[in-house]
Amino acid sequence: MRKKIAAANWKMNCTYQQGEQLLQDILGANIALQDHQQAIFAVPFPYLIMAGAKVEGKKGYSISAQNVYNKKSGAYTGEVSAEMLKSIDIKYCLVGHSERREYFQESNQALAEKLDLLLANGITPIFCCGEPLEIREAGTQNSYVAKQLEESLFHLSAEVISTIVIAYEPIWAIGTGKTATAAQAQEIHAYLRSVLAGKYGAAVADAIPVLYGGSVKGNNAAELFACPDVDGGLVGGASLNAEEFATIIRSLP
Ligand code: PEP
Repeated sequence: MRKKIAAANWKMNCTYQQGEQLLQDILGANIALQDHQQAIFAVPFPYLIMAGAKVEGKKGYSISAQNVYNKKSGAYTGEVSAEMLKSIDIKYCLVGHSERREYFQESNQALAEKLDLLLANGITPIFCCGEPLEIREAGTQNSYVAKQLEESLFHLSAEVISTIVIAYEPIWAIGTGKTATAAQAQEIHAYLRSVLAGKYGAAVADAIPVLYGGSVKGNNAAELFACPDVDGGLVGGASLNAEEFATIIRSLP
């Protein structure tokens, strides 16, 4: 069975103390995860070690970085490498969130380099893709998103791509309160899986979790996660509220 994942993206929110409290409150709900379920917290860099200590020994709970640099090491002041993340035992890293693509001009090529460095260091990338509103309105979202996969992922071998996580996040739904309907999410997730199957075969495509992101809340998570090709969610705003994120974790099938 594919992994079902509730991933929190805190973005640039919370002080250290607020972050500690938030994690404590969510973990305090003592939600037992089954073997196929995962709850992941993508926290700001300065909180990674603290957050790692909090989830240590808790089955199914892991920590993710929100970003990594696309160079191995060296004179890149202010950047963080995959090797550094590995050295503090980080298991996941977001790659290509739409905010990074938009505000930091991250190209599909640069994202491919980040993926390679993470994978070489045993860190699972959570690769984000998704179209802006004008593309959705033009009805060309499928080819737009397929190109993002092709340019950033399709250099990977079948064995390696089977280990990553993909998050489909329509930009028009991120932080806007507008959620894709379950039917819209299912349709494009199934399409993405067909693109993966076209390149790598059905077995590989079936192994890759594809999360939905874009205004997932406690009150819509269960319906979205019930779609056969939606394997959980990448959650921004609602992940900052302990009760709401706990509800989202409990909504994992
Ligand atoms: C996100 O940041 O990945 C996201 C989906 O945000 P929100 O849940 O707030 O729309």
